[in-house]
Amino acid sequence: MQVVDANQPPPFEGRNLYRTHRALREAAAREGAEWADARLERWGEVLGRPDTFALAARANRNSPELATFDRFGNRIDEIAFDPAWHELMAMAMREGEHASPWSEPRPGAQVARAAAYLMHAEVENGTQCPLTMTYAAAPLLSRHAGTLAWLGQSWLPRLHAHDYDPRSLPVAGKRSALIGMGMTERQGGSDVRTNTTRAEPAGDGAYRVNGHKWFFSAPMCDAHLILAQAPGGLSCLFLPRFLPDGRRNAVLLQRLKDKLGNRSNASSEVEFAGATAWLLGDEGRGVPVIIDMVRHTRFDCAIGSAGLIRGAVAQALHHAAHRRAFGRALVEQPLMQNVLADLALEDEAATTLALRLARSFDAPADSADAALARLATPALKYWICKRAPAVVAEAMEVLGGNGYVEESMLPRLYREAPVNSIWEGSGNVMCLDVQRAAQREPAALEALMAELALARGANGRLDRHVEALGAMLASGAGEADARRQSAAIAVALAGALLARHAPPALADAYCASRLGETGTATLGMLPTGLDYAAIIRRGMPD
Ligand SMILES: Cc1cc2nc3c(=O)[nH]c(=O)nc-3n(C[C@H](O)[C@H](O)[C@H](O)COP(=O)(O)OP(=O)(O)OC[C@H]3O[C@@H](n4cnc5c(N)ncnc54)[C@H](O)[C@@H]3O)c2cc1C
Repeated sequence: MQVVDANQPPPFEGRNLYRTHRALREAAAREGAEWADARLERWGEVLGRPDTFALAARANRNSPELATFDRFGNRIDEIAFDPAWHELMAMAMREGEHASPWSEPRPGAQVARAAAYLMHAEVENGTQCPLTMTYAAAPLLSRHAGTLAWLGQSWLPRLHAHDYDPRSLPVAGKRSALIGMGMTERQGGSDVRTNTTRAEPAGDGAYRVNGHKWFFSAPMCDAHLILAQAPGGLSCLFLPRFLPDGRRNAVLLQRLKDKLGNRSNASSEVEFAGATAWLLGDEGRGVPVIIDMVRHTRFDCAIGSAGLIRGAVAQALHHAAHRRAFGRALVEQPLMQNVLADLALEDEAATTLALRLARSFDAPADSADAALARLATPALKYWICKRAPAVVAEAMEVLGGNGYVEESMLPRLYREAPVNSIWEGSGNVMCLDVQRAAQREPAALEALMAELALARGANGRLDRHVEALGAMLASGAGEADARRQSAAIAVALAGALLARHAPPALADAYCASRLGETGTATLGMLPTGLDYAAIIRRGMPD
């Protein structure tokens, strides 16, 4: 039967994800990456193609498989991925998502990469795990290239290469390389002091590592940075997959995790059976060494969740613009307008925050902006990642029954949404980190208050919120209040940025609904009298 008018919207894919995202374009230019406009527009076009959406669906439908042995019984510990995974990785590495601020440093490089990464997250998320870890490890490794010359000679050029080389080979034979991270053990992930994996000096400059990791994502990476107990205490070590003489390192993959989402990506459990690794920094300084990688991965979690939010909200707005019910388009129904405007506020806030945070990663290490990042990174990692599941669930409902069906892609975004909040420091751990920074690092607190002061006078509710926030942070509140503190910082930053840069209808609606004691339990409960239509128009992906 031929259905003439099925009241179904046209496909979402086939649009330029950059050109159709006003908040992203404006933020990229404002935060220092105006020069990247044409490049981001090209990347937005590539990502928005129906073919790219199809690759993403396929890579997630056909999860990777572990082969521990070859047919002769030799240990191989290989991961077989769907070809779609490799294609997506190649696209992202050509774009430089794993390296561009290091391979092509210039002012605004972090912002440009963040914009590219955010758009990637709208389409596929599993591939972002190894891309992020490689991006995050490179500055740490270049800092240690002075003491381990081979890091600078063999590894860094390959980590910076805009090329994808998935072959299982010693690094010398490869065009590019990927890095992962192994900290979490069975008995503790947040509290890595409980790590039991041991690293003993081997007498030849290397260490022998014995133990396990309970989560070891992207095990096909060419090397991992791990934590292990050396004689001098918990230490950070560089553990390659292949040894310089060409043998496989004793990194034995036990099984792959059967995860809620992130199914295109392989996350493994691993045992180290006398594996060879090299110390980075001093024994006993493992956490201070690896924290430099971790702050970059946390930054990426915030950007990635901003992308998830945009991906879901853009599809919801698109659907509502085309679907009719009770004689009118959904986008014209007053109650749906409230829901859509509320979703669009989350989208604009998350994108704006993510790119402002990116600018602080571009800033010199001794600047006020870098101090701001010390507080803002955990606060925004907490807040943006925490908003994602609620936003994606609400966006799914906008699509009605279609939203619950795999083909719409919303189920995949929904399954993906919680993970950024859990890994790289779960919610509570982030909030306790914010509290520590607020109490112990006066420069970070000062930078935060200075940033918020830039919006003083723009909105009375915002001014009152910032004043109360200052008092709350100065009061030395206890651990039980840490979530309230982090949330208050995040919405203050969002309110201040929107008041300065977004259309007034949007900034007013954000401040009216997110600041003070009005916190909404669900989306779609914005106060009446706001300009919903203007907010929706701005978020519409057209
Ligand atoms: C898909 C996936 C992939 C992963 N890949 C990797 C990887 O590649 N490498 C790696 O090292 N790890 C990886 N992880 C592990 C991840 O980083 C940890 O799961 C995470 O850090 C939490 O550690 P945990 O699971 O041991 O939970 P726990 O540390 O036991 O924490 C459980 C809960 O308690 C909370 N909590 C902890 N301490 C406190 C406190 N003091 N006060 C209040 N609340 C607290 C936490 O916020 C959390 O909600 C991955 C996880 C997932 C889900």
